[in-house]
Amino acid sequence: MTEQILVIGSGIAGMCTSMALARKGFAVTLLERDGEPPEGDADKAFFEWSRRGASQFRHPHAFLGLMCNLLQDNYPDLLENFYAAGARRVGFKEMLSPELMAQYSPEPGDEKLFVLMCRRAIIETVLRRYVSSFPGVRVLNGVHVDSLVSEKVDGQLVARGVKIRRDCVAQFGEEIRADVVVDASGRTTKFPGWLETEGAHVAEENDDAEIVYYTRHYKLRPGQAEPPRGGKDRSAGDLGYIKFGVFPGDNGNFALIVCVHNSEKELREAIKHSDQFDAICRSIPGLLPWVAPEVSEPTTASFGIGDIRSVWRHWVKDGQPLVHNFFAVGDASVRTNPLYGRGCSTGIMHAHLLADVLVADKDANTRALRFSERTEAELRPIHRASLREDQNGIRRSVAVREGKKLDDAKGGFKKWFEAAFGDAMAGAARYNLHVMRGMMRTFNLLEKPGDFLKDRKTQAIVFLYMLRGRAKNASARIVRGPTRDETMKLIESLQG
Ligand SMILES: Cc1cc2nc3c(=O)[nH]c(=O)nc-3n(C[C@H](O)[C@H](O)[C@H](O)COP(=O)(O)OP(=O)(O)OC[C@H]3O[C@@H](n4cnc5c(N)ncnc54)[C@H](O)[C@@H]3O)c2cc1C
Repeated sequence: MTEQILVIGSGIAGMCTSMALARKGFAVTLLERDGEPPEGDADKAFFEWSRRGASQFRHPHAFLGLMCNLLQDNYPDLLENFYAAGARRVGFKEMLSPELMAQYSPEPGDEKLFVLMCRRAIIETVLRRYVSSFPGVRVLNGVHVDSLVSEKVDGQLVARGVKIRRDCVAQFGEEIRADVVVDASGRTTKFPGWLETEGAHVAEENDDAEIVYYTRHYKLRPGQAEPPRGGKDRSAGDLGYIKFGVFPGDNGNFALIVCVHNSEKELREAIKHSDQFDAICRSIPGLLPWVAPEVSEPTTASFGIGDIRSVWRHWVKDGQPLVHNFFAVGDASVRTNPLYGRGCSTGIMHAHLLADVLVADKDANTRALRFSERTEAELRPIHRASLREDQNGIRRSVAVREGKKLDDAKGGFKKWFEAAFGDAMAGAARYNLHVMRGMMRTFNLLEKPGDFLKDRKTQAIVFLYMLRGRAKNASARIVRGPTRDETMKLIESLQG
């Protein structure tokens, strides 16, 4: 008999889980609390679709190589649908600065180094329409899952289905039963709480990135083109007290993000006001070419999202699964700081890991253990690297707020060496194509974090760069921009 699978949440991970499972012969029902996307183009979905279940929907997203390759390998026609809706495929060559472009000659693997640039509205709407007509998947929109249905069998908790509430019917407690329940309900999942009431405690590693993430969207004015890449001033960087970046999108749209440490109350207050957001962005040389009034005009106000955390949930305790026939994928299980743009890629990878595990084994205990092992092997290195980057970011922003120098290395030779090596790598990546290629493979999650540093040629180049001295290398990393004091003065002047 075909196994019946319930997937909760039609976000990125839920949709990809549904397709991956259906392709392996499972019968999937996908339950989503929000309604269908509106008919029409990307603008219609971006401005009008109510996506209360995914509060990050209107924040810009980078769709990295890992995600793009998984989709291309498994659903090539889906990529064509993204392009038709306005998404842009940007390959390795197009990402290079003029200096690196001059050294470019193609290498095997370059074809995998590509990203998609568009608003998340395109990815979600196109994916929703695609999954809705996918053989073996039934999509029910407007269905809120309210609890897990489970029972104890010989002392082991076993998932049996969920209780739901439908938008269109004022009736609570309807049950949908299935052989397997998959939680893909995202960063606000309620399943750990529901399991707790059944006596199963989901242990959690939960680290606050201590930032608030602000966005504003813009559109290029008629006749204006995107500023060229690889100029003197980079369009993304870290000033210590502010992290900033441009997300080029579809159809002339782009977004700017500005992230600040939680404790920067004045700065946070200012950025909430769209005019002050713009003024701060215009004071950063790498952003100015995008937001000069003659180049673009805003299409939204500035808006923010907090509670930016790195989360890892443990579904197995002391070698025993907490619950059988239940799996959590995507943000419901593993979350990383959105600044690195990894969540959709890791979510899709997680979806495919689950499909592989479910098809390989029928035994509930074995499935739970294998999925936990595969998750640990594939996602843990990415999670660990993201957490390390968060901790460095927190240290930097606290140092700047306290008026200390960014690289006050007080940790002896080891710390000095790490910092010098980091600077040399930044310098080498800026001017050496081989190192840049390796970094881009890591950045796009096409290999495990840090793997490219095992390459002898890369090591040799980076050591040669170390000989140039730190100051010269650091200049490749340091981005021009106002100091914190200058920005505070700017805000004061704007507030009169
Ligand atoms: C500000 C911000 C920026 C980001 N930028 C990037 C980026 O640049 N690149 C990137 O790859 N990732 C980015 N991410 C992360 C990315 O958004 C997530 O990792 C990704 O969406 C996770 O997919 P998911 O399917 O697990 O969850 P989601 O996409 O959040 O989907 C969860 C789904 O579950 C539904 N749901 C929730 N509860 C219920 C319920 N009880 N019943 C029924 N349905 C329910 C929701 O409506 C939603 O559709 C960003 C995140 C944030 C917060």
